[in-house]
Amino acid sequence: VGDSRDFDTETKSICPFCGVGCQVSLKARAGRIVKVDGINGPANEGRLCVKGRFGFDYIHHEHRLTKPLIRRDDAPAKGLNVDPGDFGAVFREATWEEALDVAANGLKGRGREVAGFGSAKCSNEEAYLFQKFIRQGFGHNNVDHCTRLCHASSVAALIENVGSGAVTATFNEIENADVAIVIGANPVENHPVAATYFKQFAKRGGKLIVMDPRGVGLRRHASHMLQFRPGADVALLNSIMHVIAEEGLVDRQYIEAMTEGWNAEREHLKGFAPEKMADLTGIDADTIREVARIFAGAKSAMIFWGMGISQHIHGTDNSRCLISLALMCGQIGRPGAGLHPLRGQNNVQGASDAGLIPMFLPDYASVLSDDVRAKYAALWGDDGGFGGEILAEKGLTVTEILDAVHAGDIRAMYILGENPAMSDPDVAHARDALAALDCLVVQDIFMTETANYADVILPAAAFAEKTGTVTNTNRQVQMGRPAVSPPGSAKEDWWITTELARRCGLDWHYSHPSEVFAEMGQVMDSLSNITWDRLETEGAVTYPSLSPTDPGQAIVFGDGFPRPEGRAKFTPASVIPPDEVPDADYPMILTTGRQLEHWHTGSMTRRSKVLDAVEPEANCSLHPSTLRRLGIAPGGQIRLTTRRGTVTLLARADRAIAPDMVFLPFAFVEAAANLLTNPALDPFGKIPEFKFSAVKVEAVDVI
Ligand code: SF4
Repeated sequence: VGDSRDFDTETKSICPFCGVGCQVSLKARAGRIVKVDGINGPANEGRLCVKGRFGFDYIHHEHRLTKPLIRRDDAPAKGLNVDPGDFGAVFREATWEEALDVAANGLKGRGREVAGFGSAKCSNEEAYLFQKFIRQGFGHNNVDHCTRLCHASSVAALIENVGSGAVTATFNEIENADVAIVIGANPVENHPVAATYFKQFAKRGGKLIVMDPRGVGLRRHASHMLQFRPGADVALLNSIMHVIAEEGLVDRQYIEAMTEGWNAEREHLKGFAPEKMADLTGIDADTIREVARIFAGAKSAMIFWGMGISQHIHGTDNSRCLISLALMCGQIGRPGAGLHPLRGQNNVQGASDAGLIPMFLPDYASVLSDDVRAKYAALWGDDGGFGGEILAEKGLTVTEILDAVHAGDIRAMYILGENPAMSDPDVAHARDALAALDCLVVQDIFMTETANYADVILPAAAFAEKTGTVTNTNRQVQMGRPAVSPPGSAKEDWWITTELARRCGLDWHYSHPSEVFAEMGQVMDSLSNITWDRLETEGAVTYPSLSPTDPGQAIVFGDGFPRPEGRAKFTPASVIPPDEVPDADYPMILTTGRQLEHWHTGSMTRRSKVLDAVEPEANCSLHPSTLRRLGIAPGGQIRLTTRRGTVTLLARADRAIAPDMVFLPFAFVEAAANLLTNPALDPFGKIPEFKFSAVKVEAVDVI
């Protein structure tokens, strides 16, 4: 790109990667972004990580989809067999008119045979339109997105026990805390700018308690690192709470004034003495007692968690424990206190708020409520021919939809910006489902693995090419702006969904995302006092915002919870084992996750020169002693096999991994982690157990 100091335009927008939501300045020359700098957004205060600063060039990659594509009549059978740079044997180019007509003909009038996966990488307006298209156009709620694979269990527990699925305090509030727990999260790699605040907190003397089966990067800054046994989260957290209850360290006044269900919780905790839990958790009783006393003695304490908590069949129970821990110590609703599930994608909070989930319309309004459905029927008016009533039934979730394809109940899908052919558990099952569809419409910026199975591909604009709002992990609604134009005839997602909806019989006439945002404001209380004009001027407003000039509330629930009588709830959680425990055939534990340089299924970051140069090859990490025992040299080839599949890839030595574990990143198609993962679901959040599968490990290159 030449000298990156030389640019023509500078545009303020938002980083497209993680839920931290760093504000960026995109510098462009001759239609190409040449440099990205951090600016003073509320979440990042000028900071950026390697992805935000150097990962932008994917948008100019030669693999960008530039024209609508239609599967050729003589294409080979559907499979993972399309070259992303040379797809002429499988797809032919088409005009927008033809491609949209073919897509609409494949979907319209099919009612419950249709399902949709929207995207947490699109704007709030695009998420709202996507769920509206499925609900208004087909009359049901079979619409979901990747929150199902990420924090669905956390949201289920939060809604159940505090009445809201979002964080109770921004992560920046750690500045005002004196104790913080970070559990099941690896912010140094997954939320790197948030991690800088956590490190500063530790540096100024805050007690940072890190708990994780992996020795994650934050341990270097921690006052306490509890590397507990995988799957023992509930036992460990209940044991900490047992000590707090047994030693009378609870905040009685807070419990009495603000909560319900304490007596049952206290009784339940009696069975979790640290001495009894030491073997199960791998953490000695003295450490559990010490951590419990530190947390209970804090003036202000925060709890942060990630997918190490949520991606288990007991993910909802894990979050229930964290909520109970905060409640029993009165650590919600004050400066430096609160619950914060670190959200993953840049707009997973906003997409969920906008109703891109099968059980809730926008703002988590239940699809089972007659009043709620009547409100939307009145607002949306016309329908796609199904009769105007949205079904009074929770829709299917991501993995349930693919199961329904296998069962023959769902025959057509519209997938926007998601990549289930890489991201779903037991991905061979997911790929077979995609191949079995009569009609698959994929809307994306690249020929993803999922697009390989498409009948029609609609080329979309990347985030830096479009206008729209996004909501980060802090509940900050922020304005994204286009710095460059989309390549070829690629279009913004809101435009494509609108055109498709019109062809499916819906009377839609949106001409700008601001009109969609205004419609959202009519039904979403969370957007009260937040207008498009404000976001244009101010760049970010946190919800809830109490007046047209209020920048928003960083901390919520100091004066009660959005639950009956304003009280939060304790929900006791019992220990249940992982779905698939190691045995003689599959003796080790497989866990999956992200790496600093790569984002999710890799479709963007593996097309970024800098990021792919740093981390170019599929790899997994094991303890050096495990590698020695197996006769595998660091850097050698290793074969991982579970009951669902096998991958072969490079092995790395990492002392932070427990000797009976393997850590496998999921960004690499050549060794797709989800060929191995277990699709067993948490019964409440319907989230798969990505964090625990039984695996066999073998040397390919023996030392
Ligand atoms: Fe982007 Fe997240 Fe990095 Fe910020 S921390 S620059 S939002 S990837």
